[in-house]
Amino acid sequence: MVRAKKSLGQHFLSDPIIVSEIISAVAPEKGETIMEIGPGEGVLTIPLVNSEANIFAIELDRRLAPRLAREFAARDNFTVLEADILAIDPKKLGLDNFAVVGNLPYNITTPIMDWLLSYHESIDRAVFMMQKEVGQRVTSPPGRKSYSTISVLTSLYYDSSVVCDVPPESFTPPPKVDSVVVKFIRHSRNYDIDNMNRFEKFVRFCFAGKRKNLTNNLNSAYPIPKDEIQEIIGEVTGNPKIRGEQLELQTFIDLSKAIFNKLS
Ligand code: SAH
Repeated sequence: MVRAKKSLGQHFLSDPIIVSEIISAVAPEKGETIMEIGPGEGVLTIPLVNSEANIFAIELDRRLAPRLAREFAARDNFTVLEADILAIDPKKLGLDNFAVVGNLPYNITTPIMDWLLSYHESIDRAVFMMQKEVGQRVTSPPGRKSYSTISVLTSLYYDSSVVCDVPPESFTPPPKVDSVVVKFIRHSRNYDIDNMNRFEKFVRFCFAGKRKNLTNNLNSAYPIPKDEIQEIIGEVTGNPKIRGEQLELQTFIDLSKAIFNKLS
């Protein structure tokens, strides 16, 4: 075994039951393409390669990438690239219509989620191990405390759910936090948003601040008087006092349109 590098978020999964949970969640099929983020020492890579799917692994650690290349040298369905996943543009690698799996480096979970969402057109499903707290936010439905910007943005493209909880002891070395395996399945509902960047900012504003008062949040974000904002919120949602964490995705979209209309 290599010495685990903290800077690379290295916690190697050592629990065979969790390995099989992840593999059955991915359900790799012969001939399809699966990208693995951070294969590490290959605990997931072995069953993935054995599934006869075409495995494309991205590993940043220069001790580990060559080791995997050697280990699977005889397999023609395995490729490893020594690279930073965040710098990978799947289209440039000729990858389209693929699945992604990985026990994520926790220090970059959020950027990797942004990466997934930005390539949703090419990625039909994903299975990620992440910190439990982040996993709860990502998968949260409206109305829960953990419902947040990332829950809303993820639900634009994916239906997500927690596959299983994973305690620190399932890793070597154990991380300080509990983990969950999360599954993402791309859905085909199409939401009408003409400026994604503007919409993302809008959602972020709605969740800003500790008290998350929607009227105040939108009032500090956009040059519209409070009473007008409250009126718009009432018209769109039926409740002028509603809070950001109660809004469904479609309501966020409707409300953003009403606010942007007022601006133009
Ligand atoms: N999949 C392995 C390792 C998980 S630890 C297992 O389950 O045991 C996270 C892995 O991600 C490590 O191998 C680490 O080197 C790799 N990694 C860290 N940052 C990365 C990045 N930016 N791009 C690709 N891989 C990265």
